[in-house]
Amino acid sequence: MKQPAGYDGYTAFAYLDADENRASFDLATDVGRLPSYEAGLTEAQELRARELIAGSLVISLHDHPFRLPADLDQLAAYQATGRVALGYAGLRRSGLDAVFDNVGFPGWSWDRTITDLGMRLCDVAQQDFVTIARGTAELLRAREAGRVALVLGLEGSEVIGDELDRIDVLYGLGIRQLGIVYQQQNALGSGLQAAKDEGLTALGRRAVRRMNQLGIAIDISHAGDRTGLDVIEASEHPVLITHAGARGVWNTRRMKPDRVLVACAEAGGLIGLEAAPHTTLSAANPVHSIASVMDHFRYCVDLIGAEHVAFGPDTFFGDHVALHGQVAGTLNLAAFHAAGPPFTPVGYVDGLENPGECFPNIVRRLVGDGWSDAEIVKVIGANVLRVLDRIWGARR
Ligand SMILES: [Zn+2]
Repeated sequence: MKQPAGYDGYTAFAYLDADENRASFDLATDVGRLPSYEAGLTEAQELRARELIAGSLVISLHDHPFRLPADLDQLAAYQATGRVALGYAGLRRSGLDAVFDNVGFPGWSWDRTITDLGMRLCDVAQQDFVTIARGTAELLRAREAGRVALVLGLEGSEVIGDELDRIDVLYGLGIRQLGIVYQQQNALGSGLQAAKDEGLTALGRRAVRRMNQLGIAIDISHAGDRTGLDVIEASEHPVLITHAGARGVWNTRRMKPDRVLVACAEAGGLIGLEAAPHTTLSAANPVHSIASVMDHFRYCVDLIGAEHVAFGPDTFFGDHVALHGQVAGTLNLAAFHAAGPPFTPVGYVDGLENPGECFPNIVRRLVGDGWSDAEIVKVIGANVLRVLDRIWGARR
């Protein structure tokens, strides 16, 4: 059983004087912003769900556990301060032992990304509740101490350009997961939105080799299908799909086809199921909710086995639908998600809206849907730990 968490009420950058804290925007609250999800469980099921969350290792493969500005028009100004506020109070209520937290933002320069990483590390160093996991031993120690561990990552490798040594620099600064490419084309490979998927480049193969040598988990969530398959083949270690769903359930390019899911699992890897608005929809549940995400979950378990499935909900403390609208011009993600079968847009994904509520609700839904304790323990954390032990090696 976990120790009671030692959260003392710290809020991000509270070590600064108010007039110096340039991130003092009106931020979305990380606690109680929306009505709670109604799972419709019996009292006995609710108790079982609570015991499973408290008694199991719980790891999110992909979330953004920081607070967005309440007014998304202020997003760029907020990010420009360099002080992006981690949602400490929300994490306290999340049931999470560890969360993969991707720093920077698509399109940012090397300098800006490193500044963001350093600022986050600085803020985390001011308190004792959230910690950084650079290996599985650190991750497990955090759990024992009732802390939440961040596993630091980047969604894409654009910032390394063609300088492989930057991968070493990132590792040295605590990065333990790297996306091979984000949506478009980079020096390593092709993303989901690239006009043509040329596969992993010669430099990309060397980058995969370097990540293997260092012990960095490689993520192919935003890679094109061919590039993703090439990475799985080239990598000596299992490869992660930290946040996606099954194209067999919802036919868009953002979802992974069976052949990628099977190749990933056969090489020992995992898929974390995504819940960003209007991604993991299904024909049975075209109004995006925890029910549609569970349709992807069942399909993946049937296809590749429960040992290879996890959850990477990809949520923020703040309005994710509005965020997609705000970045539509630069990243075009809302339009990208809409380029599939017709669906009914939602204001938010009920039950999977922010990092504070995802895992308690996932466990509630798994209990309600009749999954066994052994299956639930695997998919909410044990699978991720097993794979990280292989990728990261026995360090720290
Ligand atoms: Zn992503």
